[in-house]
Amino acid sequence: MDVVERVLVSKEQLDKQVEELGARISKDYQGQELVIIGVLKGGFIFLADLARKITIPVDLDFMSVSSYGNSSKSSGVVKIIKDVDTNITGKHVLIVEDIIDTGLTLNHLVELLKTRGPLSVKVCAALDKPSRRKVDLKVDYKGIEIPDEFVIGYGLDYAGKYRNIAEVCVLKREVYTKK
Ligand code: 5GP
Repeated sequence: MDVVERVLVSKEQLDKQVEELGARISKDYQGQELVIIGVLKGGFIFLADLARKITIPVDLDFMSVSSYGNSSKSSGVVKIIKDVDTNITGKHVLIVEDIIDTGLTLNHLVELLKTRGPLSVKVCAALDKPSRRKVDLKVDYKGIEIPDEFVIGYGLDYAGKYRNIAEVCVLKREVYTKK
């Protein structure tokens, strides 16, 4: 697509990473009651791939939180648009997110879910931008580390579009600076 500067993470790299994470999660939660919570909208493609690499029975649910809107900078404001329907009390919880940037979103979600009496709350993300972190967040299942670039594809959008690109791509800077 003409808004793509370059491909940062190929489909092959993503598939390999997802397979590894799926195997680890299946092993770590063997015999336990696990609720996987996908963070919408960005996490939907990663979760769809990851869920099919998990070989133990799990409950799947979704939360929707406010994103960047049409800007490429985090506001730091996390608004819950849709909460989970599942009761997580006494269960293990794994939050699945597309990307960790400042860490503010996941930090907020972890603290919120912890108030509901789960056995544990852990975090899994497809992509990580560690250089941008603003909070000390423990990422239990970490995907691919990327530099401080604004990326699209593999579930990630710019102004609501481009989530359907198969690879993780750098968005052309001129696309978000011309406004
Ligand atoms: P954080 O709260 O960690 O700063 O940001 C997390 C959310 O910001 C992600 O779930 C994602 O929606 C959005 N985000 C962070 N970095 C990027 C990026 O490079 N591209 C896109 N499309 N969204 C991003």
